[in-house]
Amino acid sequence: MSRSSAPAVDVVVVGAGLSGLAAARSLTARGHAVRVLEAGAQVGGRTRNHLLAGVNVDLGGTFVGPGQDRILALAHETGCDYHRTHTTGQSAISWRGTLRRYDGTVPTLGALELADIGRLQLIVGRIVAGMRAGAPWETKNAAELDSHTLTSWLRSRRALASTHALFAIVAKTTWGCEPDEISMLYALDYIRGCGGLDRMLDTEGGAQQEHFPGGAHSIAVRMAEELGERVTVGSPVRRIEWRDGGAVVHTDTESLDCRAVVVAVPPAVRGSIAFEPALPEEHRSLGQRWPQGVLTKIYAAYERPFWRDRGLNGQVLSDAGPIFATFDTSPAPDGPGILLGFIGGDYAREFDRLPEHERRLRALSSLASMFGDDALQATAFVDQRWAAESWIGGGPTAVVPPGVLTRYGRTLAEPVGPIHWAGTETSTEWAGYMDGAVRAGERASHECLAALRAVVA
Ligand SMILES: Cc1cc2nc3c(=O)[nH]c(=O)nc-3n(C[C@H](O)[C@H](O)[C@H](O)COP(=O)(O)OP(=O)(O)OC[C@H]3O[C@@H](n4cnc5c(N)ncnc54)[C@H](O)[C@@H]3O)c2cc1C
Repeated sequence: MSRSSAPAVDVVVVGAGLSGLAAARSLTARGHAVRVLEAGAQVGGRTRNHLLAGVNVDLGGTFVGPGQDRILALAHETGCDYHRTHTTGQSAISWRGTLRRYDGTVPTLGALELADIGRLQLIVGRIVAGMRAGAPWETKNAAELDSHTLTSWLRSRRALASTHALFAIVAKTTWGCEPDEISMLYALDYIRGCGGLDRMLDTEGGAQQEHFPGGAHSIAVRMAEELGERVTVGSPVRRIEWRDGGAVVHTDTESLDCRAVVVAVPPAVRGSIAFEPALPEEHRSLGQRWPQGVLTKIYAAYERPFWRDRGLNGQVLSDAGPIFATFDTSPAPDGPGILLGFIGGDYAREFDRLPEHERRLRALSSLASMFGDDALQATAFVDQRWAAESWIGGGPTAVVPPGVLTRYGRTLAEPVGPIHWAGTETSTEWAGYMDGAVRAGERASHECLAALRAVVA
């Protein structure tokens, strides 16, 4: 192993998303020498800013809400303000070719349809209440739940076609997948980590309650500014040679000797790093079996938020696609109107392959089916295809298929020698969210602190 006699730094952090930066910030605050190596051209990972019609829009992570204490605290500490997501007016659902408006959070469907959705929500709530954080494999009937996809589980519960369709929208938005791709046990554990289905799905009182006018990305930028020269972008980590008590981390231009490493990249891209010696089998297999979802985000800008004049709040769900959920992120009633749209799962796989002008046309036509032909007259448009990002592998988070969580879940965050794992996917609370990213980074930093103390002692 190529190494100098004294480690260059205490900890090398791989990945400058929110998780890696939170880990580095926490370690630095406790007096440790840290380097952060980021493969991409900028920090922030799955948070990214774009200026559209003079307005900051988030191409990745956007919303925060109650219960997301770590990201909210970090936003406060770094001086990044957030404000309420616009909800004044009616929401709507485009359902089987008809647009139906509704007040509150429950879409206007038939009585039978609503009763069936309520029944399934109750069952989900009961199972989730019996789950233990960090140990989904201990759940009653865990093996059976992990053998089901969301689709096959709904079928086993004789859910109506409308319930399947509504949960399909949930799967596309939450994980960027179709409901027949994801393990039911994983989906339930994810819902548990959010504090239940309502917390996960709601705007008011839920995970979409607030967003950052300056962009969520600014939190990562502020942390990177605090860390200064400790952060290097455009520097992919290619290889990690590890031994008990230390490691050498190799990029194309440098080799850094350190006492501990925090790998803060999505599990699906851990395999892009060569580990010497090889990681234990469960860790290698986990990386191959924990794929990212496929979620694309679009923003369209208008002279004004014209839908507000018609009593709409900009939140529309659709069973037709390609856009299946929208939000109004306009900065002011008389300023530019900004609509955010999500395209996920199979819709995104098809959409992402189209040339730029067709993607714009397809997205605006989809918005027009919800908001009328005025939606075709966008003054500016942008889309972000996360599945095309090789260092991230897709988004918003992992889509774990059946049979994996019960076999490999225990190794997700289990350290290997001096290597510790961060990244939102490793969090037991709000996994997949910005809050989970911060929690996981801070947890990995505490593990490193304990390991470094043990070496000194
Ligand atoms: C479209 C979309 C919408 C979302 N909406 C929300 C939302 O509204 N609210 C919310 O809370 N969350 C949302 N999320 C999820 C949120 O953005 C993520 O959970 C969070 O940003 C993940 O942070 P992270 O640090 O764990 O991982 P990442 O942000 O993925 O950071 C990992 C970093 O590691 C780098 N990297 C990878 N391999 C290497 C290597 N070999 N060497 C060096 N660096 C490497 C990558 O380039 C990347 O910068 C959304 C995500 C997407 C994509």
